[in-house]
Amino acid sequence: MAKVSVIIPAAGSGRRFGARESKILQPIGGRPVFLRSVDAFAAREDVCEIQLVLSAADAGEVARRFAGELKAVGVRLIAGGPTRSQSVRGALAGVSEDAELVCVHDAVRPCVRPEWIDAVFAQAHRTGAAILACPLHGTIKRARPDGVIAETLCRDGLWEAQTPQVFRRDILLAAYARGTDATDDAELVQAGGHPVTVVACDRRNVKITTPADLRFARAVFDSLQQ
Ligand code: C5P
Repeated sequence: MAKVSVIIPAAGSGRRFGARESKILQPIGGRPVFLRSVDAFAAREDVCEIQLVLSAADAGEVARRFAGELKAVGVRLIAGGPTRSQSVRGALAGVSEDAELVCVHDAVRPCVRPEWIDAVFAQAHRTGAAILACPLHGTIKRARPDGVIAETLCRDGLWEAQTPQVFRRDILLAAYARGTDATDDAELVQAGGHPVTVVACDRRNVKITTPADLRFARAVFDSLQQ
């Protein structure tokens, strides 16, 4: 069984969320968003370590309220950087040499299911680089800053990238050695010349950016428990 090192970036500022308390601390099914993401990996036999990357603004409160629980499942806390890629880079330095795969999963996708993780781990094991993604079904428009539609895009072959994003350790390390200027890890790996495969998921693997996303995530979470 491949050993997987998991990095959970949770160090965003959450400016678009707008609440006083950080979005990673908002409850979903009675537990904070970030702990739901940790839970998804903590009990897996193929996961050998978990690093949780926190902002300076949240680190104190997370340590005060959850240090015992996180220690009990072996989660290491890491200080975040100014961008997501820099947060991931900080954790990459601490990835164990025993790990064959590195999985990066955004703390703000708390609804991720074991079977989706199984699928993306298996694909990364086969090809070295795989991500969950959602095929686009709607009609996609590009609009100008004034809101007027400039064009309708052909949606053939278009996917929205999600996480987990999973890579052979050497491939991800080599990609980060070349640079960190990207919105996700798949982009960095691809820029380094390694193909990345999409594994089909769906919108239930929601990323919480706004309060409306949190309401949707809560409904998804509840429906997945039934
Ligand atoms: O900001 P964005 O939507 O790209 O955030 C995706 C994930 O990356 C979130 O879980 C967020 O907490 C994390 N992040 C981070 N460090 C940053 C910015 C974002 O760990 N500097």
